[in-house]
Amino acid sequence: MQCLEHPVEKLRSVLLSTRKDLIEAFEHYSKEEKRFLEKGLLPDSRLFTAITIHSESDWIPAHPQAPQDFQSFYSNPYRKTPDPGHKTIYIQTIGSFGDEDGVTEQYVEWLREYCEAFFYGLAVKLLPAVTIAATGCAFRVNSNTNNLQLHAGDLLVFLKKRKPKDAFCIVGVTVIDLYPKDSWNFVFGQASLSEGMGVFSFARYDDDFYHRSYAGRLKKKVKLKPGDYRVFQDCYIPPIRSTLLFRSCKTVTHEIGHIFGIEHCQWLQCVMQGSNHLEESDRRPLDLCPICLRKLQCAIGFKIADRYKALLQWIENGSSDHQTDKPTAAFQDFRQWLSMCLSLLEDES
Ligand SMILES: [Zn+2]
Ligand SMILES: [Zn+2]
Repeated sequence: MQCLEHPVEKLRSVLLSTRKDLIEAFEHYSKEEKRFLEKGLLPDSRLFTAITIHSESDWIPAHPQAPQDFQSFYSNPYRKTPDPGHKTIYIQTIGSFGDEDGVTEQYVEWLREYCEAFFYGLAVKLLPAVTIAATGCAFRVNSNTNNLQLHAGDLLVFLKKRKPKDAFCIVGVTVIDLYPKDSWNFVFGQASLSEGMGVFSFARYDDDFYHRSYAGRLKKKVKLKPGDYRVFQDCYIPPIRSTLLFRSCKTVTHEIGHIFGIEHCQWLQCVMQGSNHLEESDRRPLDLCPICLRKLQCAIGFKIADRYKALLQWIENGSSDHQTDKPTAAFQDFRQWLSMCLSLLEDES
């Protein structure tokens, strides 16, 4: 295992930038926010730690590229920023989630509330759920894993038509696996950043996906007919567990982060780290490092403590007036972490 440690001075200039106007803009943070962001870069910070590389198949060794500092993010003329006419994130559910009635609505509502806390200050709305048939997408059975898959590009074409005028972005979510083209095995998701849309599958976040006994493998050989979606009527849907919700929240916020123009993080452990496989994606934390936090903050304009409070509240409102208890067991470390961040931000000394 290799530890990717950057000198503190380097991290400081990555956060503040070398441009005079951006250094001045940093001064507009409150005293507590500045202290929080800068303390977070120190090697003894318990809040943000160095990225570790576990194998050559991890994202960073497999995709060598220049890391994105705050200044290069800020100066990118193509990045999308919410504006008064386009400040809503839309989530489109495709097919059902969970095997009981009402579960789909409940699950995506949890996801919606989580995104609203994460992108604090923007509205996040659910579009009415659609069946797989309504998207008109192509589909197939994967010849290795023997599970059903939807054509990701076709889903993007569908989303483009559904995108409301006031959308900052639209993201489609499904628990059916995706493929980008016939020659590919699968894809976790596909996005068009310039058009502000993406589609993501949680199929492989099911605990059992990679087991031989995975219930989503079709038992008998089925002959699929294009346009005949009856095969999806009683297909396998993963049960709603805490890890599925945890991984779904992490994926959706990571992917929407890209739509803001935030590239894969190579600075500190961060939800924006790239991942090549499930183990690596499980290893990255749920939230942003100080550098990516400044990128998001400058795009949206929230108070840092307000955003942490909203995330904390999302975890704590686990079972309020909802019909089903929100499975937040996997979020308990994150809850502690948020409390630590808040106590540093609220310490006026
Ligand atoms: Zn990514
Ligand atoms: Zn980061």
